[in-house]
Amino acid sequence: MSQRDEYKRTIVYGDTALAYLKKNELAAYPRNYELWYAYSAGFNHALNKALNDILGKKGTISPDEAQSVYTRFLCPNRLGDRIDSVGSKLSGEIGDVIEIVAESLKTANNYADSLDGVAEELTEAHTREEFAHVIADIVNETRRAAAVNRELEGQLKKSREQISSLQESLDAIRFESLTDELTTLANRRHFDETIGRAIVNASETNEPLALLLTDIDHFKKFNDTYGHQTGDHVLRLVGLSVKQNIKGQDVACRYGGEEFAVILPRTSLQQAFSVAEHIRKSVMCKELVKRSTGENLGRITISIGVSAFQPGDNDSMLIGRADAALYAAKRGGRNMVRCEMDDDSDTAVA
Ligand code: GH3
Ligand code: MG
Ligand code: MG
Repeated sequence: MSQRDEYKRTIVYGDTALAYLKKNELAAYPRNYELWYAYSAGFNHALNKALNDILGKKGTISPDEAQSVYTRFLCPNRLGDRIDSVGSKLSGEIGDVIEIVAESLKTANNYADSLDGVAEELTEAHTREEFAHVIADIVNETRRAAAVNRELEGQLKKSREQISSLQESLDAIRFESLTDELTTLANRRHFDETIGRAIVNASETNEPLALLLTDIDHFKKFNDTYGHQTGDHVLRLVGLSVKQNIKGQDVACRYGGEEFAVILPRTSLQQAFSVAEHIRKSVMCKELVKRSTGENLGRITISIGVSAFQPGDNDSMLIGRADAALYAAKRGGRNMVRCEMDDDSDTAVA
C-alpha cells in the first residue's frame, strides 16, 4: 500500500477518534486516542462491543469506563503484565519450596541429634524402666519428625500444584505471544524464529526445505469497496485455506498485513509448488458472502511465490527468492504460483 493510501485510510479513523474524544469530553491522552482510533477502525470486535454496550445504555462514556475498556482490550503491556505476574508468583513458589527443603533438612538434623542423645542415654541405661524410658523417647522423637515431615509434604504438594498451574499460564502466554490474533496463525515473530531453525536443520540434515509467500490480489480495492472489517473476515478465510492445505510439520504464518508465509520442511520445490497450487485453488473456489446482509462479494484470488533452500542460504536469501517469485506471479497476471526457477521469475537462472 502506498504511503498516500495509508494516509487517506487512517486519517479518517484519526478524525473520527478525535470527534469521539470531544463528544465524550475525554482528555486527548494517547491511550484515549488509541481507544477511539481502534473503535473507529473497527478491527477489535470485542472492544467495539464493550464500548457500544456502554454508549447504548448511557449515550456517553466516563473517563473511568474508557480506562477500564482500554485496560481490558488494548493495554499494550497486557502480555507483559501477565508475564510479570506469573514470574513473581513463580519466584514466590520457588522461595516457598526452598524454605520447605531447609525446614526438612532442619527436621532431619534435629532427629539425628535426638538419636545421638538417645544413644548416650542408652549406654547409661541399666534397668528395665530406664530402657523403657529410652525407647519411649525414640518413639516420641520419631513421631514428632514424621508429623513435621507430613506437614512439609503437604506444603510441597500444594507448591507443586501451584507451579504446574503457573507453568500452564506461561505456556498460554508463550502461545499468545507467538500467535496472530486475527487469523490465529503463527505471527511474524514465530516465523522469524522458525525459519532460522528450519534453515539450520536443512543444512545439517541435507533435507530439502521450501518456502511459500502468498499475497492477496487487488486486496486494497476489496477493502475500499467492502470496508476494512469485511477485509479482515476475508483475511481469516485465506488464513484458513492456507491452514487446511498444509500438514504436520509445516508452519503457516501471517507474514504481514495480507501476506502469509508457509515454511515447508522436508519438501522439494516441486512438492511445494503443488501445495501452493492447492492453496491458490482453495481460495479461488470460495464464494464470499457477507454474513450480515447476504450480499455476494464475488471471489478473491492470491498469488504465491515459492523458493527452496540452497546450501549457503540464510533466511533473507530464501525469503528474497520467494518474494521475487511472488512478484513474478503478480506481473504474470496474478492468481498464479511461480517458483524461483521459473523462466519469468526474477530469480531464474540464465
Ligand atoms: P496486489 O494484487 O498487487 O497485491 O494489490 P493489493 O491491492 O493487494 O496491493 P498490496 O498487496 O500492496 O496492498 C495491500 C492492501 O491490503 C493494503 C490494505 O488495504 C490491505 N491490508 C493490509 N493489511 C490488512 C489488514 O490487516 N486488514 C485488512 N482488511 N486489509 C489489510
Ligand atoms: Mg501485499
Ligand atoms: Mg496484495
